[in-house]
Amino acid sequence: MHQLTKLAFVLSCALSVTPVLAEEQHAHWGYEGDVAPANWGKLSDEYAVCGNGKNQSPVDIHSAVKARLAPLATAYQAGGDQILNNGHTIQVIYEAGSHISIDGAAFTLKQFHFHAPSENLIAGRSYPLEVHLVHADEAGNLAVVALMFNEGKANPLLQTLWAQMPAKAGDKVALNKSVNVADLLPKDKHYYRFAGSLTTPPCSEGVRWLVLKKPMTASKQQIEQFAKLMGHPNNRPVQTLGARQIVE
Ligand SMILES: [Zn+2]
Repeated sequence: MHQLTKLAFVLSCALSVTPVLAEEQHAHWGYEGDVAPANWGKLSDEYAVCGNGKNQSPVDIHSAVKARLAPLATAYQAGGDQILNNGHTIQVIYEAGSHISIDGAAFTLKQFHFHAPSENLIAGRSYPLEVHLVHADEAGNLAVVALMFNEGKANPLLQTLWAQMPAKAGDKVALNKSVNVADLLPKDKHYYRFAGSLTTPPCSEGVRWLVLKKPMTASKQQIEQFAKLMGHPNNRPVQTLGARQIVE
């Protein structure tokens, strides 16, 4: 898919008012039954790469090559203004003005959303919760920063978000105070990097993945509250790494 089309898709899905609207435009997909991840590639020509792609996400991160990557450079400010239940995840929509720098280019944060259990694995290990921070540069290239959560101390930002997340798929509400995604992140921003894809249809490739090494914590109750609202796991299984190399 063309980069701008891909970005338009990500944004249109992010901004869809109801899942019914989204389904008129794109084949219905999910995590269970006939529309489960194993069948995504067959649901629509538009999703073919979900089945035959060579650089698909998520992956099991292992055998990383030491490349002395500099810690992630973030310039985040408060800007998470709306929270959406799109039927596949809970997503916080971000206003322009927050960036990361990769390969000398600025990637603007568009939205962040959650998966339970985690999609990526680290050395074969699954985590109970993973957040994806989705960024795009001016050309529409995507970069996702992923962060794992272990069960432990309650997370204050999740407390704020979960208190306002819409229970019904398709509903979007304004947060009563703009949130700053920086409040979710660890101080230590070392990461693994590899090439991958969107983890949901259309599974478009060419996505820069940066998975932070240091997990944060969320309470058992917070993890359960999200899982219960989703009603089923919302993680795509890990995909073959193939010829790809992971660097750290
Ligand atoms: Zn995701």
